[in-house]
Amino acid sequence: MPRWNPDGEVLMLLQIHEPGETPEPHALERSQAIGIDLGTTNSVVAMVSGDHPEVLRDGSGDGLVPSVVAYVYDEPIVGRAAQAELAQHPDLVISSVKRLMGRGAADVKTLAGALPYQIAPDPDGKAGGMVRLKVGDRVLSPVEISADILKALKQRAEISLGHKVEKAVITVPAYFDDAARTATKDAARVAGLEVLRLVNEPTAAALAYGLDSAAEGIYAVYDLGGGTFDISLLKLQKGVFQVLATGGDAQLGGDDFDHALASWAMRRTGITGLTSGEAKILLQAARAAKERLTTAPGAELKAKVAGHDVRQSIDRGTFEVLIEPLIGRTLRACRQVLEDAKLTPADVKGVVLVGGSTRVPLVRAFVADFFKQEPLADIDPDEVVAVGAALQAKALTQGSETLLLDVIPLSLGIETMGGIVEKVIERNTPIPVTKAQDFTTYQDGQTGMLIHIVQGERETVDACRSLGRFELKGIPGMVAGAARIRVTFAVDADGLLTVSAEERMTGVKAEIAVKPSYGLSDEQMADMLRDSLTYAREDMEKRLLLESRVEAERVLLALKAALAADGALLSSAEHAEIDRVAQKLKGLVAGDDRARIHAGMEELDRATHDFAQKRMDRAIQAALKGQRLDEVEAGMAPDNPN
Ligand code: ADP
Ligand code: MG
Repeated sequence: MPRWNPDGEVLMLLQIHEPGETPEPHALERSQAIGIDLGTTNSVVAMVSGDHPEVLRDGSGDGLVPSVVAYVYDEPIVGRAAQAELAQHPDLVISSVKRLMGRGAADVKTLAGALPYQIAPDPDGKAGGMVRLKVGDRVLSPVEISADILKALKQRAEISLGHKVEKAVITVPAYFDDAARTATKDAARVAGLEVLRLVNEPTAAALAYGLDSAAEGIYAVYDLGGGTFDISLLKLQKGVFQVLATGGDAQLGGDDFDHALASWAMRRTGITGLTSGEAKILLQAARAAKERLTTAPGAELKAKVAGHDVRQSIDRGTFEVLIEPLIGRTLRACRQVLEDAKLTPADVKGVVLVGGSTRVPLVRAFVADFFKQEPLADIDPDEVVAVGAALQAKALTQGSETLLLDVIPLSLGIETMGGIVEKVIERNTPIPVTKAQDFTTYQDGQTGMLIHIVQGERETVDACRSLGRFELKGIPGMVAGAARIRVTFAVDADGLLTVSAEERMTGVKAEIAVKPSYGLSDEQMADMLRDSLTYAREDMEKRLLLESRVEAERVLLALKAALAADGALLSSAEHAEIDRVAQKLKGLVAGDDRARIHAGMEELDRATHDFAQKRMDRAIQAALKGQRLDEVEAGMAPDNPN
């Protein structure tokens, strides 16, 4: 029930520009942005230039930057160069820090031993519960270490593009919680990157294959990296992906293939014990042999450890026997996640392979057999996530016809009677989106309606942000509640909102366009969200009170109309009693006790019971006289100009 314009005559109100708004709202945002896959083992940076996404490589054509940082000198070293420091300074080289993102010191204690880190004590709680690592004489948080990796990626991009880069889309695992996502954003800020959006890794991979314009349905993303396995089910609907379910194993990946191969070599050579340094050397050799076996039928594992000169030839078949149980574990996780989502492999429309370990031919064969289809694997599996991130970065900076992965940051709604907000589109709804709600008139004979568009999470208009107002005029006067006004909110892929209102019986229509998030900084947005949580309870109380008031006022208005029409049916004593109870309710409406307003309404309902009965009898008698009932009812509403 949008507010009735009491002036009767309705003006078209279309001045909706915010002060300072540029006529071309996207001009400011036009600039280039990179896509980053910040991986546990390897990171990749990519960018779309022209129409083609491209992985940004180093001088030797290598696109992968190992997610390893060495704190040997004043300046941190990242990537292959950091790996090279491992032999000399094992304590100063940090890898797999992604596992600690957003973790508290308490979470990590339970992992202690499994982690090759030294956790820095935090006796006075200065780190606010965040884990910090002791690296030589430095104490570093996972955020700072990730920031060093991001800085290196930013620098790689700047060198290869020849200009500064300030914006990025960064991918995160679909299962990352709020703390881990916030930590990732913080790391980007420290690295001097503005995060346009965090995108889920499986979603990015699906985007890289252009699945957003494929058939609607369920897609699976099978991601086997160095140390983790993730299986995600995505649901594609109207060009937008939703993560339906995720599963996997945080301690299963290509590293385990290396272990299996290294143990096999130790058994064959009769080696029983290794120092941790020797183990690293043997594992490195195993990894090289494993990667060779992906393309060659056989390979040789060579390493000098523990006084042994290890030289073991291995064929692919033997390697496959070693890793089969590990692949079996990934398939069990796939079965589990499908079960959780109440789906079967036959429901899956397409499977995307992600992660370096999906290069292993047996992995591909098992995945194909499980899902009964050839998985998508044309794009390099350890670059596919960064490619998707780059496509998303382009869509967010330069617009796109097909990439529709944006969401609405704050709920959009309209003001209804009593200053209450009726949300039409909830926050986090992916765009583009169109939603409609029907409203009706509040008062008999109402010919215009003021539509006030607001943004925010709070329940009342004064606590939300006003985006614009417009009026629908020329509605034929009808009895209150008879008009059907459909208000439609449409947000396009650029976040541009158009609100239209149409009276359904007559087709009378009006609309305006608004740019909802314009002029809101991230901080303001965060404030509005925080407020909505802080005041949730208070708001709800206030909303209920306002609703009670509106309802009571509606009842009083209807009574006034009825008395004007049929007051003659009452004796003067009956009339006086009804007036008294109505007067009392009016007094209660001015107060703020919801329960008493309710009691007042019930009392009025009892007091007018006989009156309502008499009016009904009269209406029926009139109808029996041959009049149509709707004419009788129309006649009962004296304010109706018709
Ligand atoms: P993450 O997502 O954990 O950062 P990646 O997707 O980069 O990791 O995967 C790294 C893993 O992929 C390592 O275990 C590596 O040995 C493995 N890998 C890379 N190339 C190959 C290959 N050609 N054959 C087999 N495994 C490979
Ligand atoms: Mg990965």
